[in-house]
Amino acid sequence: MGCHSVHIGGGEPLLNPEGLAAVLAAARDAGVGVEYVETNSSWFTDPEEAAALLTGLKKLGLAALLISISPFHNEYIPFKRVKGVIAACRAVGLQAFPWINEFYREIDAFEDGTTHNLEEYTAKFGGDYLKRLPKRYWVHLGGRAVKTFREIFPARGLEAVCADSRSGCRELLDTRHFHLDLFGNYIPGLCSGLAIKAEDLGRPLDAEAYPLLTSLFNSGVAGLLDYAASRQGFEPAAAYISKCHLCLEIRSYLALERQIDSPELQPLAFYENLGG
Ligand code: SF4
Repeated sequence: MGCHSVHIGGGEPLLNPEGLAAVLAAARDAGVGVEYVETNSSWFTDPEEAAALLTGLKKLGLAALLISISPFHNEYIPFKRVKGVIAACRAVGLQAFPWINEFYREIDAFEDGTTHNLEEYTAKFGGDYLKRLPKRYWVHLGGRAVKTFREIFPARGLEAVCADSRSGCRELLDTRHFHLDLFGNYIPGLCSGLAIKAEDLGRPLDAEAYPLLTSLFNSGVAGLLDYAASRQGFEPAAAYISKCHLCLEIRSYLALERQIDSPELQPLAFYENLGG
């Protein structure tokens, strides 16, 4: 389908070094480039071990590591590990691609041996810290980001939110940067929790097999709401921060409360792990 290079993300690819090595070898053998491997650095414990691991992967064609750097990651990963991975890249001649370096100094303002939650960032850098983040860092308001930002961004009335997308979600067509998950699902439009089976790619989508995606593409979240309210008993709230917020609430309801077994609402664990 014209894709000659990939990046490998997660989860965390380096939790399974043998699996990652097998993927790198397979890409090399197939003549597919690997632009970078993403890591959150959670695996780092020891400089020598890290250098040995990265040296082995470099021999298989690994050229660069995209290293996550953000307050969201620092909630879970001590910054000391991130620094350790950057140093290990330098030691073995691997390109380190910090995503994003702009946060380095503010994360480094905290003790680096432990994690720090967003409340600590707000206390140190101001009450509007979270609100300013999406201007500095690409945040897709889907998944847990909706949960993080729904108290911060102004909510809009249901009608206005639906009106935004009545002509359909064209984001679903965007293939400039796309993901396939480890279960063989293509994630259309970077809309996490929506899925197309890899074997169904490359031809028009069957509307009967993919009714939710067809509805979202043809009539946006308003179409999904019509279906969920009239056929599945979904009761919308009065307001949402965006169409994607409403879309996520409907899909979570269908997947978790109605327990619809749909190839479009995958992986189920995405919905199960959204949290409050
Ligand atoms: S409303 Fe749903 S399908 Fe449309 S862009 Fe947002 S998450 Fe994707």
